[in-house]
Amino acid sequence: MSLVVVGSMAFDAIETPFGKSDRIIGGAATYIAWSASNFTQPIKQISVVGGDFPKEELSALEARGVQLEGVQVKENEKSFFWSGKYHMDMNTRDALDTQLNVLANFEPKVPDSYQDCSFLMLGNLVPAIQLQVIEQMKTQPRLVVLDTMNFWMETAMDDLMKVLKRVDVLMVNDSEARELSNEFSLVKAAKKILTMGPKYLIIKKGEHGALLFHSDNVFFAPALPLEDVFDPTGAGDTFAGGFIGHIARTKDISFENMKTAIIYGSAMASFCVEKFGTERLKSLTKEEIDRRMQQFQDLVNFDIELV
Ligand code: AMP
Repeated sequence: MSLVVVGSMAFDAIETPFGKSDRIIGGAATYIAWSASNFTQPIKQISVVGGDFPKEELSALEARGVQLEGVQVKENEKSFFWSGKYHMDMNTRDALDTQLNVLANFEPKVPDSYQDCSFLMLGNLVPAIQLQVIEQMKTQPRLVVLDTMNFWMETAMDDLMKVLKRVDVLMVNDSEARELSNEFSLVKAAKKILTMGPKYLIIKKGEHGALLFHSDNVFFAPALPLEDVFDPTGAGDTFAGGFIGHIARTKDISFENMKTAIIYGSAMASFCVEKFGTERLKSLTKEEIDRRMQQFQDLVNFDIELV
């Protein structure tokens, strides 16, 4: 019963209205692994990096119970590079540069030791590659979760539609849900997207929380109001890591448990934004996660006496 995580491992360069980073470690699968490893280990990672990706970053992940047999290292090539600039609201951003490098001709190979996969987290990556991983699984995982982004809607929509037919849960942010469905209302967008393949849809709304849709049910998880948001990069992936980590730990794929899982996702994302890159996630303790979950409970707990 293991968790397999797929996605980019990258260098990022980030600009916010309050600061700027040089090339720092990022990538969807990097954030997911750091986040999910708080809930379940081992995590079986599938990705590709160039010879420029620091070996000590890989060792740090291994020390957190992340297995790297499925991570290809292309010594003579460059890692994926992404650069983004956040607007004043820290919720919206422009991608300034996306250099696929090693991702351009990545052919994932699912190692035999990953074939016990029960939970498959397909983080942001070329949709055709996400599909190849699903197709290499000899037995269908209990739950397949997919995260994607507008970049792939604009460059690989046909492949994205193909992979969507094979997943149980889709995670996107609000603008991506609108782009995918051509609907402004998120309720209408959700209805349309739930006909494309996924049975569950999570729409992330940054500082406004996240919505979970399943047939006619909808559940809302808030985001924690934070005094300082330093860098939102990776918040979505960290959310995904908390979500799938909780599901893999509890082995419960019911809608009820997914509600708890999106609160864990929101709690993990709230840590991610407190520092640049993966820095905050690396120093996180179980006590801090428990305390933050308590804060979420306090945030939304109230009694009503109907008169
Ligand atoms: P998030 O802020 O959760 O949407 O994720 C940001 C991370 O996604 C960054 O660390 C980037 O390296 C990575 N990323 C950005 N664009 C892409 C892309 N087109 N494919 C895969 N990963 C990407």
